[in-house]
This record gives sequence, C-alpha cells and structure tokens, in this order.
Amino acid sequence: MKKKIGISYSEMLFENYVNWFTAQDLADDIEITVLSYEKNNVQDIYSCDGFVLTGGVDVHPSYYNGSADYVNRPSAFSLQRDRFEENIYRYSQLQQLPVLGICRGMQLVNVLEGGKLVQDLGNGNSQHKKDVIDKQHKVAAVKETFLHTVTGAVDGAVNSAHHQAVHPQAIAPGLLPNVYAADDKTIEGFEFADKTGKGFMLCVQWHPERMIEKEQNPFSQHIKNQFLSAVRNTNMKKLQVVNPATEEIITELTQDSKESLEQKLATLRNHHAKWGAVALAERVKIIQRFSELLEEHKEHLAAVLTSEVGKPLQQSRNEVNGARARIKWLAGNAEKYLSDEVMVEEPGLTEKISYEPLGVICNISAWNYPYLVGTNVFIPALLAGNSVMYKPSEYAVLTGLEIEKLLKQAGVPETAFQVAVGAGAVGEVLLDLPFDGYFFTGSYKTGKYIYERVAPKMVPCQCELGGKDPLYVADDIEDIKGVAAATADGAFYNNGQSCCSVERIYVHEKVYDSYVDEFVKEVASWKKGLPTESGVYIGPLTRKEQLNVLDNQINDAVGKGGKVLAGGKQIPGKGYYFEPTVVVNASHDMLLMKDESFGPVIGIMKVNSDEEAVKLMQDTEYGLTASVYTASRNRAETILGKVDSGTGYWNCCDCVSAALPWSGRKHSGFGSTLSHAGLRGFTRPKAYHLRG
Ligand code: NAD
Repeated sequence: MKKKIGISYSEMLFENYVNWFTAQDLADDIEITVLSYEKNNVQDIYSCDGFVLTGGVDVHPSYYNGSADYVNRPSAFSLQRDRFEENIYRYSQLQQLPVLGICRGMQLVNVLEGGKLVQDLGNGNSQHKKDVIDKQHKVAAVKETFLHTVTGAVDGAVNSAHHQAVHPQAIAPGLLPNVYAADDKTIEGFEFADKTGKGFMLCVQWHPERMIEKEQNPFSQHIKNQFLSAVRNTNMKKLQVVNPATEEIITELTQDSKESLEQKLATLRNHHAKWGAVALAERVKIIQRFSELLEEHKEHLAAVLTSEVGKPLQQSRNEVNGARARIKWLAGNAEKYLSDEVMVEEPGLTEKISYEPLGVICNISAWNYPYLVGTNVFIPALLAGNSVMYKPSEYAVLTGLEIEKLLKQAGVPETAFQVAVGAGAVGEVLLDLPFDGYFFTGSYKTGKYIYERVAPKMVPCQCELGGKDPLYVADDIEDIKGVAAATADGAFYNNGQSCCSVERIYVHEKVYDSYVDEFVKEVASWKKGLPTESGVYIGPLTRKEQLNVLDNQINDAVGKGGKVLAGGKQIPGKGYYFEPTVVVNASHDMLLMKDESFGPVIGIMKVNSDEEAVKLMQDTEYGLTASVYTASRNRAETILGKVDSGTGYWNCCDCVSAALPWSGRKHSGFGSTLSHAGLRGFTRPKAYHLRG
C-alpha cells in the first residue's frame, strides 16, 4: 500500500497545502489523507506515515497559560482543532514519524513541547502580518542546523502571515531555533536540539506551500523534498485491516513498537493517580456519556464493525445496544459496589472495606464481540479508578480505535486510556511490561500462555476463554419448532463465533426426529450473503484460517460416521464464507464434539435419558455455559447443577446478563466479569480497623 501524508485540515487556504504536493512529488507511492478535526477521523491518524500541521486560527491560550484577552485575539478559537492536532503531534512523536509544522503548526508544536507564545507581535509586526498578500521578508538560517543542511542556504526570503510567534525567552526546552527573521529576529523555525530517537521534525513560521516561486526557493522546495524522503524512508510495521466479506484491504495501520508501548504505559503510570482521584460519581457520569455517544454514533460504529469482522449489520447494531445495556448496569451499580463498605460499626470501632483500584491494567481482547467483551473489562476498570491499556484484537482494531475516540470524547482523559495497535507480537510486549493486572479475553491456547507468562509478576490475571457449550433438549418440550429455532440461533448467531455459542446438542430420543427436522428447516431458511445486505443472517467468518478448521472438523466427523444434513463446505468466491452446517449421528470421538468450532457448524446427538445427557455434557475440557430445554424448571436445575460450567440456562441459551457474573471454569478460564463480582474484580479490597 502507499505511504500516507496526513495534512491537518484548516479553513484557511487549505487547498494550497494539498496542491503543494504535486503528482510528481507523490509519484505512485504516496497519497494525501486529510485529517479533519471537524470529522474527528482519529483512526486515519494511525494509518499515516507523516504529518503536516497547517496554519490557521490562534492556538487556545490555555495551552500555554497565556492571557485570555490580548490584542488581535480571534473572535473564536477552536479547542476542537487544538485537541485533534495535539493527538496528531503526540502520535507522530510516539511513533517517531515525520512532522512538518507550518505557521500555527509551529506554534502548536512549541506549546505542546512546553513553550510559550508571544500573543501578539504588536506594532512592530509590519514584517509578518498579512495585509492583502503575505508579507515578504528576509531570514537567516543558523549554520549547521538541520534546516541549514536541508535548505543548503543561510540567507533566504520567505512569506509571512502571522501575528503570534514563538516566545524568544520561552521556546520549549529541547527545541533549537534554526532560523530568524533578518530584521526583528523573530524565531522563524525550529528543530529538536537532540535528535536521538526522534523522527524528522521541522517547523517553520512562514508558508512554504504558498510562496511566490516556491519551486525555486530552497526554504520551500528543499524542505518539502526532505519531508517527502523522510516519509518514504519510514519503516513502520503495518497491520492490514481486511474486509472478510470481500477480502479487500480497508486500511493499513502503524503497529505499536516496544518504544511506543513503553511510552504509553509511562503516560498511564505517571498520571494514574489523577484519574483515581476523580470522584466516583463523576467517573460514572463520564461512562454514561460514553454510552450516549455509542447510541449517537451507532450506525457508523456498526458499519465499521461489520466492515472488519463481517458480522451482519443488524447484529453489529445489536452488539452496540448490548454494550449499552451492560454499561447501564455497571455504571448504575458502581457506587453501590465500589464505595467503602462499613462491616462493623460499634462504639469505639469501625471496620470497613475500601475498594482501591488495581492501578494500570492491561486488557488484551478478542474480536468476536469487541464492544461486549471490551465493555466487560475496560468499563468496570475505569469506573473503579484504574487506567487502562486496551489491546483490541488485530481483527477488530478499527472498532478499538472508535472506542478510544468516544471514551475520550466522553471525558476519559488521554492519560487514563491508551490503545495498543497490533497483533500477537504487540501482545507479547505488553506481557513484558509491568502492569498491575492482566485481563485477557480470547482462546484457551493464548490464555494459558498469557497466564504462565504473567505468573511471576504476582499480579492479578484473569482469563475469559473459549467453550464447547452443550445444550440438552429433554423429552417434555412442547413447542418443538420454537425450541429448534431458538437453539439454532444459539448455535449460529454471529456465525457461531461466540464464546457461549451452542457447540454441541443432545436431544432426547422421543423428540429427536421432529427436533432435527425443524432445526434443519430453520437453518435452510437463513439468508446468506454480504453482511451489509438487509436480512442476511449468515455472513463471512472473520478469519480465513478458521475455514480450514471447519473443513477438518467436518471431514473428521464424516469419516467417523457423521451425517451432514445441511451445508458441509466452504462457499466458493470472494470472502470467507462457510455454509451453515448440521451434522447428526455425532459422537464424542469426533473433533466436532470436542474442539471449539467457533463457526457455523453444529453436531447433534441422540440420547435416551437425562443421565446420559449429563454424562455427555460433562465430557469436555471446557466449562463456560450449559443449557437445558425442558418444561420443568426443577428438572433443568437438577441437570445444570451437575454440569461444571460458569453459567446454566433453562429454556434459553447464548445470552449474558450484566447483573450476573460471567465466568468460565476449566479451560474456559477463571475470574468474573459483569455483576458485582466483575466490578470488584478491578479493585484490591483494603481492610480498615478504626478505633477511637
Ligand atoms: P486469540 O487468543 O487468538 O487472541 C486474543 C487476543 O490475544 C488478541 O488480541 C491477540 O492479538 C492476542 N494475542 C495473541 N497471541 C498473543 C501472545 N502471544 N501474547 C499476547 N497476546 C496475544 O483469540 P481470538 O481469536 O481473538 O478470540 C476467539 C477466542 O476467544 C475464542 O476461543 C472464544 O471462545 C474466546 N472468547 C471468550 C470469551 C469469554 O468471555 N469467555 C469472549 C469472547 C471470546
């Protein structure tokens, strides 16, 4: 894919910046991306390889502790733009990517690095402030600076249109002025004094993009050329985001490096106490605001989610709604379960428990329900006062970045929530870093590995892992058609890619034939196709590799006597499609009944008693959920009581309630999210014995 230059949008003569980069400059390997504070397209920042921070309205004085009222103050500032461009600049530094700051862009970099501005150059400003056209004046570059090397010139002529400037006595520490106005000595450019570990960075006070005869002026042309070559020379590891329905590359994002992750952790660590000190009631409000933003942006969020994981659009909307329902419970109960708890109150003695945050936690997450599994962790973690490093799955990273954007828009500080972009290798780096707790959602294989890696740190490590969830249909059900439809949905919703999907079905022999008949009819009725098409229930799988896993399971089952009543193979063409597949005559020597399928396939077995059903349901290494369909609650509870799983369902399946603990057993993991246990799971209880 092409390298990308992100140019920050400005209302003022923006096309000049874009046009400055000619077709010849860009050739066939660079393209321009507009980074617009109005659109707040933060995710696009992560796909860029270099940045131009443009000119425009004065930076808000709060950025440099300046006076709110000054000569030539603009009628309106744009804090939204300041914040957006701050994101761009901080990101460029984190990833050591090239930055070119122009006019306001230069002033912004100075204040972000800790410098101050001259708020108005005053009467002596005849040199700089635009009249009808830019002011032309001479500059002198400082010899042997990077600017001097780049331009190859000491004396030059530039154009200006500004009334503020870098404060000569308060330029940010670490910045080196490299060019001055010849007459009044205004600082007209800077670079890093120490360039070790830094990317290309030049900032100029003039407008190289709109100079007269800019192609001949080294203070425009050479700077541009050097910036372009710095962009071409970037060598960041990229993560391709692919649409599983079409196999098209949606975008490429720069992955986090060890250095950028260390910096992100340092940011979280250094400011952790501030977020913890925000009153719980205020944290609750911020999280509730996040939920409102999810609702406001639902259509967009659903479209992004569908584009990268392939789930049908309506299911993406359902997921956002589901996350909001969980947030409602968690935020609504935070004060009840996270406030200090007085256990003993008698004359002269109070004994209480205080629920202190763990600190800075790391959340390594899965792709199948990024809003739901994410919400299970980072919402209670933030509510409890923790700071969070969130690593969305590489298959749901755009959604992870949307989440980050909206959390920050809701009021979670930049310093309390950071996203790690990348796949397993980035996860590995996180395991090396010193977090105060690890919260993992994903496969048993990765979970086991993470648990072992984290163990020596002696910090909490929680694992929500896979399942091979059984469902039993007893002989007393009446509405066979209804049960068949509900249980088929439990097995195939989200293409079977749910940790609590029904993965094995046992049916009492008395109702077996009619149940299987109705089940197959239900499966045959589903519309398959592009997940963006209305009414589609079966879209593509998210990961291509899983197609082979399913092929293997079906071939193995058929080889051992299984009979395929529906589907059974991949759907040819673009996209990772597999037919919804029903296998009967299943048995426990088949992979299909033992290994997590995580796809649209189901094995069905006939049983002749509750005892046989329980025995088979128990015959698994996993222990996430189990369901029983029967007319009798008593019968269901008796059966469920004998199955070693974190959740038991009577006449329902594949569902989660925020009020109940979500926890696995055996290879399905340990620890709980959701419920009061899930809120307190992100805290350390401290015992207070108070006498007097
Ligand atoms: P996965 O284990 O492949 O990946 C999960 C996360 O771990 C990803 O972010 C991945 O980048 C990261 N990772 C991979 N290797 C790593 C390493 N060596 N070090 C650190 N991090 C690493 O799982 P997945 O495919 O994303 O998710 C599917 C699995 O998750 C299924 O088994 C499913 O059942 C399970 N799951 C469980 C629950 C639950 O609540 N119990 C919920 C959703 C999904």
